[in-house]
Amino acid sequence: MRNKRLRTAFAVCGFLLALTAGAAAGRLSKRSQTAPESAAEVSAPEISAAETVPTSAAPAAETTAATTAQSFAPAVPEPDASDFVLLSDAVPDVILEMRYYTTYNFIGDRIDGYDAPCALLTKEAAAALRGVSDELGEKGYRLKIYDAYRPQTAVDHFVRWAEDTADIRMKACFYPELDKSVLFESGYISRHSAHSRGSTVDLTLFDISTGKDVDMGGTFDYFGERSHPDFRGVSQEQYANRRLLRDAMTSHGFHGISTEWWHFTLNDEPFPETFFSFPVDPAVLP
Ligand SMILES: [Zn+2]
Repeated sequence: MRNKRLRTAFAVCGFLLALTAGAAAGRLSKRSQTAPESAAEVSAPEISAAETVPTSAAPAAETTAATTAQSFAPAVPEPDASDFVLLSDAVPDVILEMRYYTTYNFIGDRIDGYDAPCALLTKEAAAALRGVSDELGEKGYRLKIYDAYRPQTAVDHFVRWAEDTADIRMKACFYPELDKSVLFESGYISRHSAHSRGSTVDLTLFDISTGKDVDMGGTFDYFGERSHPDFRGVSQEQYANRRLLRDAMTSHGFHGISTEWWHFTLNDEPFPETFFSFPVDPAVLP
């Protein structure tokens, strides 16, 4: 909206050239969050190095901003939530347990950008997840969602926390086997996440007959080998439960990763190169 107003002002008043150039620079600075992703995603942890952006991205964006400001290129709309939906609308049977809105997560605080206890996803990912929910619902399960769209501001919060090696409040629950100083090099924390592209979800299964979560032989966001979907230290039943979730997700167009049994991304995600920053809040939706 602000950009639109600026463009209109420029068309009417040529002397607003400096203002328009400034706005273009601002837009491109934000667009520097749009970044290529390595092909390693399938084999790397989700909060991980797979989503690392080349360090040259920021300077390159600055150069481009300056060039574009001088050539008065048409404004590129800032990525917004217009193609996202509220997951509880699109998939009414889901159970939400949005860990990053709560303090029960590996940091121990509410995470930046989680302004409401809701889940947002792209329309495409939500529609595919509806198929998973319907299929597993007939078998007596509901989907329990831990995380969906994750703003870049939240990932930035993860990074700040990882750099503060003195803060180990939640170590006993989430990374008892690891020294916090290795989280970056081990790939557990990275500067970008597939979740910020809006078509990735973290979830488990809830058994309607028992009223409990299905036993996956491990817990969400545990930093360790036990979280690998193919970890052989779990029981046969736990392994079968992981496969039940994974098979349902893959049959509806998602793929998992080798390090986290709960994490899935839509194969044909609509924004494969865009890392969104708007907050998790129903107010951002159209
Ligand atoms: Zn995830």
